[in-house]
Amino acid sequence: MADNSGYKKFISDFESGLKEIFSQHHQEVKNLTNRGFSKETLAAIMEFNPLSVSVPSEYGGRGMKVKECLGVLEAASYESLSLSLIFGINIALFLEPFAKYGQDSLKPKVFKKFIEEQGMGGLMISEPLHGSDALGMQTSHFLNGDDTYHLKGTKHWQGLTGMADFWLVASKEQKSDGSLGRDISIFVTDQSEDNQKIEVAEYYKNNGLYPIPYGKNTLDLSIPQEALLEPESTGIKMLMDLLHRSRMQFPGMAMGFLKRIMHEAHTYCNDRLVRGNSLLQFDQVQYQFSKLQHAFTVCSAMCHHSSLTSGYDVNLSLFGVEANTIKAYVTDLMQNSAQTLTQLMGSSGYKIESYGSRGIMDSRPFQIFEGPNEMLYGQISEAVSKQMMKQKMSTLMEYLSSYDLTKDAIKHFKGLLDFGVERSMPQRKHVIIGQLVSRVVVADYVQNLANKGFNSELINNCIQNLIYEVSQFVTSYKTENQISPVEGFNDNSSWKSLV
Ligand SMILES: Cc1cc2nc3c(=O)[nH]c(=O)nc-3n(C[C@H](O)[C@H](O)[C@H](O)COP(=O)(O)OP(=O)(O)OC[C@H]3O[C@@H](n4cnc5c(N)ncnc54)[C@H](O)[C@@H]3O)c2cc1C
Repeated sequence: MADNSGYKKFISDFESGLKEIFSQHHQEVKNLTNRGFSKETLAAIMEFNPLSVSVPSEYGGRGMKVKECLGVLEAASYESLSLSLIFGINIALFLEPFAKYGQDSLKPKVFKKFIEEQGMGGLMISEPLHGSDALGMQTSHFLNGDDTYHLKGTKHWQGLTGMADFWLVASKEQKSDGSLGRDISIFVTDQSEDNQKIEVAEYYKNNGLYPIPYGKNTLDLSIPQEALLEPESTGIKMLMDLLHRSRMQFPGMAMGFLKRIMHEAHTYCNDRLVRGNSLLQFDQVQYQFSKLQHAFTVCSAMCHHSSLTSGYDVNLSLFGVEANTIKAYVTDLMQNSAQTLTQLMGSSGYKIESYGSRGIMDSRPFQIFEGPNEMLYGQISEAVSKQMMKQKMSTLMEYLSSYDLTKDAIKHFKGLLDFGVERSMPQRKHVIIGQLVSRVVVADYVQNLANKGFNSELINNCIQNLIYEVSQFVTSYKTENQISPVEGFNDNSSWKSLV
């Protein structure tokens, strides 16, 4: 077991500091004077130097240990999912990729800003016409005569728009004939340099995550060559390594959020009397509460797994099935859990200070950004069905029994998966199979957590839940579904004309 003594103090000081700061902040929210953090609130939080966890030790940080990064994200999301996302953006979308692929000459200046001056950084990939289809991006660069890169384009929906000190910007090389190359390059830009300053064309009114500014950014920059990130092979592989590492750190942001939801639901359901009984006496409430515990256990298993496998020295570009499984499933659990808490709390859940209703809006975009979940599930299924075809395997059971990520957990799903899947099946079927496979992959993580001594009752419930979910996906997959949209939906479709 690693020496945790310094970290234990660091994280417990941070947790108690946040508790105090947020008890004050919640008063602000109740009075509706401030829907985001005030500058003072954010500055007080940053006094704890939480981002030092993802700065290399040679630059004064705590050395980029995944467990520490996830611990900071968890502590923050117990109080505020927005705060945790601010840290998630800085850690996974800026500091880790910059530490790994940035040029050494720029590192002292950049890391000093984070360690000494509460600096912040974010990532620019999405463009107004290229979101899910990020590789179609049109932002471009070419090398100028003066040996600087000229970078031009429009990006939007970047977390920390107008607030970050540094950006990683994804772009394509513009060739001499004006066409764009296929590979992606990433540059680090510095807002304190006039010719690198990214202008905010518009701030968006985001419908949740209030403390995080979003908007549209215009880029017309001149950037030194030392700002170009250096991939190990192709730029696309570097981008996939970055995105997969980030997806594998989503459970850190989810962990405190799901734990808080479980705590809030338990307190409310215990204290609330209906016909003389606490809510927790009702069967349906017990079932809903056990689903919150399931989410908590799954997320714990994912944090445990990511801490052990996704160190920044590992190249994760080929970890698509794992990264997609973790990101898509944990963010579905976040949204479902927020909905469940809001329901369980009845009308109290609809108050603005309720963690559940705030959580519904705040967790919703997690299912969309860094890959919409249905796309990620579809990709899992594509990868599995491709391998099944290649290895001439006829049933999912046969394939998952020999697949590294599932072979130890497949025993729980015996008798359920004796059917084949085809690469050519409709996308909606791929999404179902992706969801199904993700639950089997997660069963393996849960088992590994059990082997380390995690609460066995939570583990047993969690495995039962996963089996139940898989059996529902099997039914759904096997049910004929050729429903397609009706083109003339405005014709003869007024009920009033029929009365
Ligand atoms: C709160 C928030 C924070 C964000 N943070 C950042 C950030 O920090 N940096 C950054 O660069 N970007 C960020 N984004 C942008 C985000 O990554 C994109 O919005 C996302 O990739 C979706 O792109 P789009 O909005 O253009 O949707 P579209 O590409 O128009 O897709 C819309 C929907 O269509 C469906 N769809 C799309 N493609 C397919 C397909 N191939 N198959 C099946 N269904 C499909 C999905 O349901 C998808 O949600 C953020 C967005 C939000 C809302």
